[in-house]
Amino acid sequence: MDKKTLWNAVIAELQLSISNANFQTWFKGKTDIVAWTDNQIEIGCNSTYTKDWLDQRYHGQLKSIIDRLTEQKTTLVFSVAKDLVGTAVAKSPKKFDDGTSSLFTEQKDLDAFQEKVSSANLNPTYTFETFIVGSSNQLAFAVAQAIAENPSKAYNPFFVYGGVGLGKTHLMHSIGHQSLKKTPSKIKVLYCTSESFTNEMIEAIQNRRTKEFRSKYRGVDILIIDDIQFIAGRETTQEEFFHTFNDLYANGKQIILSSDRPPADIAKLEERLRSRFEGGMIADIQQPDIDMREAILLSKIQRQNLDIPQEVIHYLAQTVSSSVRDLEGSLLRIVTQASLNNTSVSLELAKSFISQKQGRGVGVKLSPKEVVELICNYFNIRLTDLKGVSRVAKLVLPRQVTMYLLRKDLGLQFENIAQLLGKKDHTTVMHGVDKIDKNVEKSEKLRGLVEDIRSKMYN
Ligand code: ADP
Ligand code: MG
Repeated sequence: MDKKTLWNAVIAELQLSISNANFQTWFKGKTDIVAWTDNQIEIGCNSTYTKDWLDQRYHGQLKSIIDRLTEQKTTLVFSVAKDLVGTAVAKSPKKFDDGTSSLFTEQKDLDAFQEKVSSANLNPTYTFETFIVGSSNQLAFAVAQAIAENPSKAYNPFFVYGGVGLGKTHLMHSIGHQSLKKTPSKIKVLYCTSESFTNEMIEAIQNRRTKEFRSKYRGVDILIIDDIQFIAGRETTQEEFFHTFNDLYANGKQIILSSDRPPADIAKLEERLRSRFEGGMIADIQQPDIDMREAILLSKIQRQNLDIPQEVIHYLAQTVSSSVRDLEGSLLRIVTQASLNNTSVSLELAKSFISQKQGRGVGVKLSPKEVVELICNYFNIRLTDLKGVSRVAKLVLPRQVTMYLLRKDLGLQFENIAQLLGKKDHTTVMHGVDKIDKNVEKSEKLRGLVEDIRSKMYN
């Protein structure tokens, strides 16, 4: 057996035992056996990141496959192979319909089917290949792949939910890409946010173009609507969407929806829509664990050919746990900072960035109860009033701020917050958190107040 045959056999086995995304990120076209002498095998990688990552995470697995195939005890060494070093090019960020811009773009994405991709409203960088899979998103990922392979079969509609910045939009775009890749000429995909659906509908009504509007949304094979929770409380939009949904569904078309919470928790969502959303497959995406955060950073770094020390990656993965968006954002800001300072990225720089960002120590050391007490003291109100039902503004604001901080900073579940504050219904808590969430964006005064309390919480 020569080294090429051996590596092909190894790759074939790996492909069966690890997720496609990990396979694409770490193996496909990125590794090869570059030398094989006696029982020593040198695995060449396209970058130091791949090399370190393989050595740390896949050493055992690779060795056991190779030992079995070669029928000997081998020693593996990992190196960077010049021939494999990639040609990823960073391009300027582009804004997409969901308001996000993508930080990382690859040259190879600019290929022929770009046309299709852009008329479907898809972000070219949000593909399965760039999506890292771990226990927090495994189910959602598996369903997404199954849909891309076989739309409108087992999982219709597909409803994916989870917190901000955890990959819902990325995953939904990936389904669109993959379906287009399979049968680009036949299949029609359309991605939009529920807000642009709403806006377009209103415009269509004003301009007497509802016919065109309907044929646009009902004429696709796969309709992807992001952040569907925003149609709640909007009568006409819900009515229109209900008919769009039914029409597509009856014609065997795939519907994919995302939201920050499960259908049952979307307040002011019409019952008939709720029951339809619950009639297919529902999967959630949770916060990634530290290993996955590290894998996400590594894959971003690799695709951008950035030079970041391992300890910085590790540090970021450890400290930025809230969302993937936050993780990516922190990385980008550190890289920008370093290039502005004309220095390289170091652990010191990363640490100073993180502490600036937090404006405080590492985490909250108070218990939920202590946070509630602190807030009562801060506003000079009694605990019984905070927990009470009085609607006077003097009490409503502290109550909602409490809900907000318990959720955002301590990561408590809505149900637990409700319990802690003596509320029967956790939707009250959701409303409270939403209210502050929206208003801190708008009001500098509220932002200052929340930050002031935070500074006390973190001290
Ligand atoms: P959401 O829609 O849930 O708010 P996004 O899909 O917009 O989150 O993800 C935020 C950012 O994090 C995007 O740049 C996305 O590419 C990235 N991201 C999220 N999850 C993953 C993942 N599992 N692998 C790679 N990148 C991810
Ligand atoms: Mg999103």
